[in-house]
Parts: sequence; C-alpha cells; structure tokens
Amino acid sequence: MSGHDMTRRRAIEVGGIAAAASLAAGGAAALGQARAPAATGQPMPDDVSLPSQPPRAPRPGSVGFAIIGLGDYALNQIMPRFARSERTHIAALVSGNPDKLRQVGEAYGVAPEARYSYERFDEIAANPAVEAVYIILPSGLHAEWTERAFAAGKHVLCEKPMALTSAECERMIAAGQRANRRLMIAYRVHFEPYNMAAMDLMREKAVGDLRLIRTEHSYRAGPSTPATNWRHNRALAGGGPLEDYGLYGLQATLYLSGEMPTRISASAHRPEGDPRFSEIFAHVAAQLHFPSGAVAQVVTSYDSAGLNLVEARGNAGALVMRPATNYNGNTLSLETGRDGRKLEPGDSEVQFAGQLNHFAAAIRDGAPIITPGEMGLRDLRLIEAIYASATSGRTVALNPDATMRG
Ligand code: NDP
Repeated sequence: MSGHDMTRRRAIEVGGIAAAASLAAGGAAALGQARAPAATGQPMPDDVSLPSQPPRAPRPGSVGFAIIGLGDYALNQIMPRFARSERTHIAALVSGNPDKLRQVGEAYGVAPEARYSYERFDEIAANPAVEAVYIILPSGLHAEWTERAFAAGKHVLCEKPMALTSAECERMIAAGQRANRRLMIAYRVHFEPYNMAAMDLMREKAVGDLRLIRTEHSYRAGPSTPATNWRHNRALAGGGPLEDYGLYGLQATLYLSGEMPTRISASAHRPEGDPRFSEIFAHVAAQLHFPSGAVAQVVTSYDSAGLNLVEARGNAGALVMRPATNYNGNTLSLETGRDGRKLEPGDSEVQFAGQLNHFAAAIRDGAPIITPGEMGLRDLRLIEAIYASATSGRTVALNPDATMRG
C-alpha cells in the first residue's frame, strides 16, 4: 500500500486509539515531536521592491512597531502597507541578517540604533519609540518571540497561526496578561471588505438557513525539503498546510456559520518517498458538524492545483467566494434561485491598514480586539481536534470552547 494515511489503520499500528489521541496534541505532535530551532537570518527574498524614499513622519499619537523577521510577507506585503495606516508606523526592525537589516533600515528610514539582531532583541525594552511588535517569523517561533516581546514590555501583533499547539497559545495569553499588554492575531480577512460583507450576509440569512460550507485552500509546492523551506519543516510548521493555508478555510467556517462545531472527523495524508512531505502532511480534509445541523468541509493541500474557495449553501441560496481570502482580487457572489449577483463591497487592499489601525485603537483607546489571542487559541484547539481525529480514525466530540471531550 503506497502512502501514509493517518487513519484508523495507522492508529492501530501505533498502539490503539488512546495512544494515537495522546500523540495528536498538534500537527507536529501527530507526526512526532520536534523542537523549533533558534531564529536565524535568511537571505533577502526574491522580487522585493524597497521604497525609494523613507516614509512620511509619523502623525502625533501614532503607535511605533518593531517588525520581527524580514521575510517575504513582511517585506512584500506588510511593511509597504504601513504607509496607508494613519495610526501606526515602523519604529524598529529585528532580523538575523545584518546586510538585509541595514538595507531595509535605510530604505524605511529606521535609524541604526533601532535595528536589532535576534541576540540583541531584549535591548528593545529600553526603546520607548517601540510600543508594539509585529511577529512575522516562521510559525514555530511565534510563541517564544511573543513571550520575549511581552517580557520587554511591548504589545504583540502575531502572525497566524498563533503558534503550533494550544499549550503554547495559553502561555502566550498568560504572558500578555502578566505584562498587562495587548495581544492580537493577524487574521487579516476580518478587515477585508469581501469577507466582512460575507459575514454580514450570513448574519442577515441571505442564503436562508445554513446547510453546507465548503472551503479549499490548496497549491502545489515546488521542490522543497525541511532544510530548505521552513513550511516543510515540522518544528517550524507543525503538520503543514492546515496550520498555514487551510486555517483560512477553518476560520471561514466559523465566521460564516456563527457557530462552533460539536464534532469533527478528519483524515490527513503524507505520501512516502516525497522529500517535500518527509516531515509534514500533503493534504488534510476535515468535516465539522455544527449544532444547527450544518456541516462544513475544510480541505487543504500543498500538492494539488491551486484553489482558494469558500462556499456557503443555505436552503434559500448560496454565497460563493473564489478566490476568497487573497490579498486582493477576491470575489463574492450571492446566488438565489436563478439569480446570481456579484458584489463588489470595496478594495481588499484596505485589510492591511485596517488590521494595523485596529491594533492601534486597542493600544491607544483600550478598544476590544476582534481577533484576540483567545481566537488563535480556539483555532489551535480545533486543529488539534482535526489531527486527533485523523490519527485515531474516529470522530472527535468537542466542548463549546473547542477542547476535546473525554
Ligand atoms: P519567510 O520565510 O519569507 O520569512 C520568514 C523570516 O523569518 C525570514 O526571512 C527570517 O527573517 C526570519 N527567520 C528567523 N528564523 C528563521 C528560520 N529558522 N527559518 C526561516 N526564517 C527565519 O516566511 P513568510 O514571510 O512567508 O511567513 C512568516 C509568517 O507570516 C508565518 O507565520 C506565516 O504563516 C505568516 N504569513 C501570513 C500571511 C497572511 O496572509 N496573514 C501570508 C504569508 C505569511 P530575517 O532574515 O530578517 O531574520
């Protein structure tokens, strides 16, 4: 039999359901434990276009951020978008690559004394211009760096997934409470007009009573190994596609249904002999059962032709988003009867500044955070339940806070 299905058969191989469930505390654990390496500098990503002139001076009251990790998402998406956020600015940079740190610092007008190596990070505590950090490191490093940032007295905006296990999420939340600092998870689509419009339509029952949700977030990964790409490295990426890309679909099932699942059944697949999947899964498929009777399917893959799809079907119509969760170019159509209506609720681009301004409002005005650490924790609990089901081959029952029953 080719392949490596994390099914009932596999559970029996590893010594029964109880052993399998205890192994499945997360994607990394489902595959065997591994420890994340220390943060280490990486080369400048491809196709980075640095600003030709430094940004304008920050407005009064603007919140100064340190960017931790100058990778693809930081340099190509997040840092350029600070220009559109009137309540935040880049005040410091943290990187393990000194040349890149200098080059990026010069381009963004960040003074040499506000450029930190990972080793010197703790000195940031003495820099009052930095009130918050934005952690854009590989996912397996989020917990450690969140705790270090709180210890330095800074507020934390942390990229998704919040961490790789629910235990890490709990530690992060506790560290923020001890430091009396705010914690937000960078779930950007909560600030993206197409997704916000979809949430409103679902609340208004535009499709009638919800019956089915289908999400798929897939792409085909190029030739990579755990050594050449952290997304294929268990210690830095957990089980792989689910924590990274599939998380968008998992989130969508919750914000579109407005419910928490009571039962989850899932499978996960790791092909043998493919260096890309020596440490992570290639695909994960989960079925979520909601109290209303609605059912959601969440599928994600690093080894299939690309798709970014969210579809919600009720007894009076359907809402289709394809792509659903991109940086831009998302679509939303509402199909009722024979009518199909394409909606254009706004410019997706605003999601980045919207997210930054939201965190600034939390810090400055004490406003509630709509994507707090507790949401990240909830999602990691669901991910753990998905792996527990995939590992045991059984349906997992959940409490309302997404912890597993029994
Ligand atoms: P990259 O690999 O492009 O960048 C990661 C950066 O982290 C590196 O450039 C490096 O910065 C630093 N780093 C520190 N230690 C390591 C290590 N051991 N291995 C690799 N990098 C290390 O990743 P992305 O920018 O794509 O992803 C970063 C985070 O952002 C992830 O958590 C990811 O899930 C999230 N993300 C979120 C997206 C969203 O839409 N919300 C989209 C894409 C990513 P340096 O050289 O400066 O030290």
